[in-house]
Amino acid sequence: MIGICYDVTDQMRADEWIHALAFHDPLTRLANRRLLMERIGQAQARSHRRGDHGALILLDIDHFKKLNDTLGHDLGDALLIQIAERLAVALRETDTAARLGGDELVVLCEALDVQPENAAHEAAMIGEKIDALIREPYRLEPGDHAYSCTASIGITLFHGHDTTGSELLKQADIAMYQAKRAGRATLRLFQPAMQQAIEESARREGALRRALEQGDLQLVYQPQVDRDGVWVGCEALLRWSLLDGTVLKPAQFLTEAETTDLMLSIGDWVVSTACREIASLPASTQAGKDLVLGINISARQLADPRLIERILAIIQPMRFPPARLRFEISEALLFGDFERNAVILERLGAAGIRIELDDFGSGYSSLVHLKRLPLSGVKIDQRLIAALDTDPNAAMIVRAAIGVADALTLPIIAEGVERESQRNLLLDMGCVRFQGFLFGRPMPLDAFRRAYESRCA
Ligand code: C2E
Ligand code: MG
Ligand code: MG
Repeated sequence: MIGICYDVTDQMRADEWIHALAFHDPLTRLANRRLLMERIGQAQARSHRRGDHGALILLDIDHFKKLNDTLGHDLGDALLIQIAERLAVALRETDTAARLGGDELVVLCEALDVQPENAAHEAAMIGEKIDALIREPYRLEPGDHAYSCTASIGITLFHGHDTTGSELLKQADIAMYQAKRAGRATLRLFQPAMQQAIEESARREGALRRALEQGDLQLVYQPQVDRDGVWVGCEALLRWSLLDGTVLKPAQFLTEAETTDLMLSIGDWVVSTACREIASLPASTQAGKDLVLGINISARQLADPRLIERILAIIQPMRFPPARLRFEISEALLFGDFERNAVILERLGAAGIRIELDDFGSGYSSLVHLKRLPLSGVKIDQRLIAALDTDPNAAMIVRAAIGVADALTLPIIAEGVERESQRNLLLDMGCVRFQGFLFGRPMPLDAFRRAYESRCA
């Protein structure tokens, strides 16, 4: 009898190693996405048999990128490894912890209550437990001082095979995003209404994109006058005409676009259309100068590093003089990230474009900041003008706002002037440029041109 004997230890180790590699995250040794998806399928089958619930808990470490950038990737990795270890210790044997990549970790819990309300409560308790263990301080390097962090947590429940695994991940992600929006370091439970809101917003964005492409957006122009009622400028305001004849105002659709790059395309369209249309008007006003064109610039546009290149690429080929342009930037927006925006305004100013502070007096500007910006004027907030002739407080604030602008030698315009009494008060206070229904409503180009020509004649 001949016996042949092989030592297969190495072979088996290699197999185990390959298996581990294929199903686990090499850094944290948690399950990877592939294994998680497999486990979700199995958990759903068990939930279906037992009639109970399961939960998918997605956690995203707050400001992880900042940690990585400031402390280095090694310490970022060390943090992830420690969090993974904590999860592994705290979870029940039947639960699965996984890393989807980056700083996104997922916990899959099974055998929660049969009643959805109770199951949601249990899932929230687990979420809070995870939240607490993540908040415990970390020592990332021996001898180093303690580091602490938080996570934004999104939770979704499942019951049998009601929802696919990837759909569940999407739901947990939506809930996690809500937690981020609520200021981070908190948890949110997925609700179908969240998804509806997101789908609705995607639908509206698609409709707006089509409106831009199909030419359903228009600009209307509102005159700006001096103390004698002579037209010295105009503001371009955006409108969206629907098929049924309804005309939407910016507040009804722009906030949506603001969160996406669609705002950049709309912004480009506004600049090019307004410059082309206003350039087509007769050469000069009664004032002996061309109308100055006011265009509103949104937060998204201001945040675009290529803003100035984009603007110049539009106005240079049509030879629209930059000095005729006045960008209106809302006060609230400008002071969001003052240092950055100040640099952008410097560059716009250097390109010869004037900048006016819109909605001035609504309460954000500090004198020190105002002084540092290359502004060419301020526009007093129409909410203040609205109450000017009825509320002594509003009158006081307007007077103070005009005083500030005067001290900084910034020209002033008042918007939303509807009554003679408001105009007279403003004149008394030293304001000599106005915009509002009293002098003209926002008009489509043709009507604006006719009114303008009859004045120039
Ligand atoms: P804003 O720049 O402060 O514009 C002034 C708003 O006041 C306009 O509303 C205008 O129609 C309205 N208005 C003018 N005179 C009077 C008046 O006498 N009484 C009253 N009650 N209202 C008056 P609109 O057109 O609805 O625009 C609202 C805001 O939407 C604008 O505020 C501006 O921030 C933004 N917006 C408008 N067009 C654009 C655009 O092309 N791009 C961007 N990014 N934002 C725009
Ligand atoms: Mg404006
Ligand atoms: Mg305004």
